Amino acid sequence: MVSYQDIRKSFGETEVLKGIDLDIKPGEKITIIGPSGSGKTTIIRMLMTLEEPTSGVIEVDGEPLWHKEVKGRLVPADEKHLRKVRGKIGMVFQQYNLFPHMTILRNVIEAPIHVLGVPKQEAVERALEMLEKVGLKDHVDKYPAQLSGGQQQRVAIARALVMEPKVMLFDEVTSALDPELVGEVLKTIKDIAKTSNMTMILVTHEMDFAREISDRVVFIDQGNIVEQGPPEEVLENPETERLQTFLQHFR
Ligand code: ATP
Repeated sequence: MVSYQDIRKSFGETEVLKGIDLDIKPGEKITIIGPSGSGKTTIIRMLMTLEEPTSGVIEVDGEPLWHKEVKGRLVPADEKHLRKVRGKIGMVFQQYNLFPHMTILRNVIEAPIHVLGVPKQEAVERALEMLEKVGLKDHVDKYPAQLSGGQQQRVAIARALVMEPKVMLFDEVTSALDPELVGEVLKTIKDIAKTSNMTMILVTHEMDFAREISDRVVFIDQGNIVEQGPPEEVLENPETERLQTFLQHFR
C-alpha cells in the first residue's frame, strides 16, 4: 500500500533520513517510535506531500508519489499528480487547527463539499456518522472553543476520516493534550483501528498504545530504521542497545 524505497532527506547540510526502506501492506497498522529528532515526522510528512525526499521513491497504492511515470521513466510529479495521490491520504497532527468560527459539523463537512464536490446533504450524513464514531454526535452544533482539547482532537480525526482516505497518518496526536485527556483520544484511535481496514501509520511516544494497536513497530534512530517487528518482539525483547536504552525512558 505504501512503499518507501531508499528514501533520503537532507535539510541543508544535515541528512535526517539516511536510506529508509519500508513496505506497508494494505490494512496494516504501523507505529513509528524513536528519539526526538530521529526523523519520524519527516517520514510521514513526505506521504502528505509536505516534504519532498532528496532522493528515493515513495509509492502509494502502486503509484509513485513524488514522481510520475512517463514512457516507463520516472519524472518529477506535477501538482495535479500530487493532489491525486494525496487524496488517498488523511492526516491528524499534534495541533488540531479547527476553524474557530465554524460549528463542529461545518468543520467536518467543509472538505467533502469543497474538495470532493460531495452534495451537502450527503456530506452532512457522512459527517454525522464520523462524529458518532468519535463519540461527539451530541456536540455537532457547538464551536471548537466550547470543547475540550481531547474533544477537538476527536473532531480533527472525524474531519480526516470523512474524506475516506486509504491511509491515515497520526503524528503525535496526544502530545499537546493535558494528561487526563490523552486516554479518550487514544481509545478513539484504537476503536477505529479495530473496526476499519484502513492502513494506519502512527508516530507516538505512548508505548502501551503502540503495543495494543500495532501490527508492527518500527524503531528509528538518527535517520535509520534500527529494528522493526511485532510489538511483543520489538517492545519486549529489543535486540539493539539503542532500542533498549530508548525504551528505558518509558519504564
Ligand atoms: P520529534 O519526536 O521531536 O517530533 P522527529 O523524530 O519527528 O522528532 P523530525 O521532526 O522528523 O524528527 O526531524 C528530524 C530532524 O530534521 C530534526 O533534527 C529537525 O530539527 C530537522 N528538521 C525537520 N524539519 C526541518 C526543516 N523544515 N528545516 C530544517 N530542519 C528540519
